[in-house]
Amino acid sequence: MSSTRFEGEIIVSAIDKREYRHITLPNKLQALLVHDPKTEKSSACCDVLVGALSDPKEAQGLAHFLEHMLFMGTEKYPVENAYSAYLNSHGGFSNAYTSQENTVYYFDVQNDHIEGALDMFASFFTCPLLSDSSTAREINAVDSENTKNLQSDMWRKFQLFKSLAREDHPLNSFSTGNLETLSKIPASKGLNTRDMVVDFYHKHYSANNMKVVVYAKESLDTLEQWVVQKFSEVPNKDLPRAVFDADPFGPAQVQKYLEVVPIRDVKSMTVSFPIPATEHRYLTKPTSYLGHLLGHESGGSILSALKAKRWANGLSAGSYLSNNDFAAFTLTIELSDEGVNHVDEIAACVFAYVGMLQRAGPQEWVWNELKETGDMNFRFLNQVEPSTYATNLANGMHTYNIPHTVCGSHLQFQCDLAEIAEFLTYFRPDNSIITVSHRGFTGKTTLKEKYYGTEHNKLDYSSTQVKLWAESLQLGGEWMDALSLPLPNPFIPTDFALKAADAAAVSVAVPVIIEHQGTTEVKHELLEEAERAPEPAAPAAESTESAEG
Ligand SMILES: [Zn+2]
Repeated sequence: MSSTRFEGEIIVSAIDKREYRHITLPNKLQALLVHDPKTEKSSACCDVLVGALSDPKEAQGLAHFLEHMLFMGTEKYPVENAYSAYLNSHGGFSNAYTSQENTVYYFDVQNDHIEGALDMFASFFTCPLLSDSSTAREINAVDSENTKNLQSDMWRKFQLFKSLAREDHPLNSFSTGNLETLSKIPASKGLNTRDMVVDFYHKHYSANNMKVVVYAKESLDTLEQWVVQKFSEVPNKDLPRAVFDADPFGPAQVQKYLEVVPIRDVKSMTVSFPIPATEHRYLTKPTSYLGHLLGHESGGSILSALKAKRWANGLSAGSYLSNNDFAAFTLTIELSDEGVNHVDEIAACVFAYVGMLQRAGPQEWVWNELKETGDMNFRFLNQVEPSTYATNLANGMHTYNIPHTVCGSHLQFQCDLAEIAEFLTYFRPDNSIITVSHRGFTGKTTLKEKYYGTEHNKLDYSSTQVKLWAESLQLGGEWMDALSLPLPNPFIPTDFALKAADAAAVSVAVPVIIEHQGTTEVKHELLEEAERAPEPAAPAAESTESAEG
């Protein structure tokens, strides 16, 4: 049994001294091995390309429930929770989460125990018990996890959003699961939950849709040997990637105005736009461009216009749903006490800005700035915890070409202004959903979301709103003078060559000026090698949500 190595270059940050190797096992399972001789912990992740969108309607939460069941023992390690106990006793931890299209398992552990942990971990995917005796107890565990989520506005918001999708679309479902959906409903239909979870495992778990990352001190050869030894027995069913309807929000699902009572005393407003899938467009990242401008905070931005009126305290913009077949883009505005009384005008401001972007057309210089910022941040990328890193890498392996496994999420590769213009056409009032959330709606709502009990009203846009927002998009209306594109940023560095210090400069202890151009001064002081990296800028607002734990 041997594996096939990827012989090309995997692009990494200039300051990343770790070694990488990408291998494909004969069963088509792909793994990325990362050798880090300085790491304090070792880690591994397995990302399986199946999630809540594949749940059967009669057992919602089944993908998440299976995630729990894999921890309940395997033929090789039959004691329930033996894996978690092993990790705990060796300074490690394990976790897992189920999102719409992925189920992700990961752990970290003291360096000396990575091989033992990896062996237990791999048995999840070769010989899980999925025993009848664990089933009832674990349904209760999922049920209590859901009970904890019930008071979380993040979970409530996500579920309410999904419930707005077409009823026959798998997005319109309940991903976590509870006693009702995992036990009572299946039983009422004569279905056995344990049988269903076994079927689900055999139907959807296959070596060809798993991506494994192992991060440790050992040499790449040793890591490769371990992965070949432990993961080659994972059955391969040559499963094709699941395809879901690209249109969860049709004409009947948009132009909805929701008034929501949150748990916490926060006032916010979101404007959401269903857009085409973005997952496979990682080379061009059209939503990065749009998130950058719509979420900008400088003069002329939506936020600065709203702040001038004292209607908003903050704003974020970016992908809210990003799946392989469909996506949504959301602007979330943190409203002031006064802003709550002006939501129609605030939405008009958003549409006026979108209209301005449409008329101006996508700007190559803005894209270039994004690319340069991305390049710089990647060049000086901070290292994150091994388990976080392994998880990010495994997830990206489902999407990125092998050379881009490490850099795929960070870099802008290709400028496609036509694609950005096409995406902008989806940012229309008649393709939007607006949600206003504040406790002032308490006692004034008529609807309750089915699983979280979120109190809300759901209204069609009024003719006044439709008229105001359509005019704002076309003409800018009263916001016209307040909105403009940001000015070019002259402070994005692109030349990172180190300046040679002359002998005199080296001998002084205080910084000295070695270059002076206009408003720019370059000072020189002696630094250790490791200190020569600037702090990277904060990443653009991106948001994904999933069933954690
Ligand atoms: Zn869970």
